[in-house]
Amino acid sequence: MQTLHTVAEMQAEADRARCAGRRLALVPTMGALHEGHLALVREARQRVGPEGHVTVSVFVNPTQFAPGEDYERYPRTLDADRAALAELVSEDGAGGADAVFAPSAEEMYPFGLPPLTTVRVAEMGRYLCGASRPGHFEGVTSVVTKLFLACRPDVAVFGQKDAQQLAILRRMTRELGFGIEIVGHPIVREKDGLALSSRNRYLSPEERRQAVVLSRALFAAGHAAGQGERSADALRQLMREQIALAPLAEVDYVEVVDADSLAPVETLEKEGPSGGRYLAALAVRFGGTRLIDNTTLRVA
Ligand code: AMP
Repeated sequence: MQTLHTVAEMQAEADRARCAGRRLALVPTMGALHEGHLALVREARQRVGPEGHVTVSVFVNPTQFAPGEDYERYPRTLDADRAALAELVSEDGAGGADAVFAPSAEEMYPFGLPPLTTVRVAEMGRYLCGASRPGHFEGVTSVVTKLFLACRPDVAVFGQKDAQQLAILRRMTRELGFGIEIVGHPIVREKDGLALSSRNRYLSPEERRQAVVLSRALFAAGHAAGQGERSADALRQLMREQIALAPLAEVDYVEVVDADSLAPVETLEKEGPSGGRYLAALAVRFGGTRLIDNTTLRVA
């Protein structure tokens, strides 16, 4: 498994693989890899097969952090990340990653910050996390575009954990005609339901204990929707009640939105624009740590 630090190296490696007839997969991450990320790498390997080529990018992208967010203190653990990926190779015969693409900020933004050229997916970037993280999704779509151009993969794998990011990237990929298959992988959770996240390590033991209310709130909404609750407000209220059980939790948002457009809805309908698929999504702060989670609601 090689580590590539420049866009030119990444492009050359991808060109070689493509010329050898290999299918390419890309798994973009910010590093501090955990089991959720590794599940994405396994999915990528499955998609391109043992002969395929899998790149994991590790880049803490400055343009998707707002001033005052955790860009400076975000964990940077490239050696451990490489070791975890190398272990993945020995674990299953098919192997994990062929390459780690770990560029510096200077490499990705050679003209400095902010870059003059960006990619923006209008409304979808303003709902949910977009409201409290202005500019975040423009940073994401722009950097993913640059990663796509460096690697030009056939397949790119993202986690459903960041459901808004996934929906926006799907839209961007189709609208710009990248010709890349976007694969969404289900959320990987701890035993008690907490979604794995590189930011969970910021939580104090008491915050960690209380953070279980996030998934409980979502599961309660899923259960109620399954029992026939069609009022989005009733589901939002139910989730807020669950979260209120954790005294340290401070709600950023609790929403029920259309699964594709991410627009807030009033009623869950089988004939809705996304064919009865909705997203219950939330963002909650514990002290200085902001956690997000979501679940898909299906009206049958
Ligand atoms: P990040 O390093 O946080 O930017 O995440 C990189 C990718 O891993 C994104 O596509 C995330 O959605 C995905 N991811 C992060 N945590 C999880 C999880 N618990 N389950 C599934 N995918 C995840």
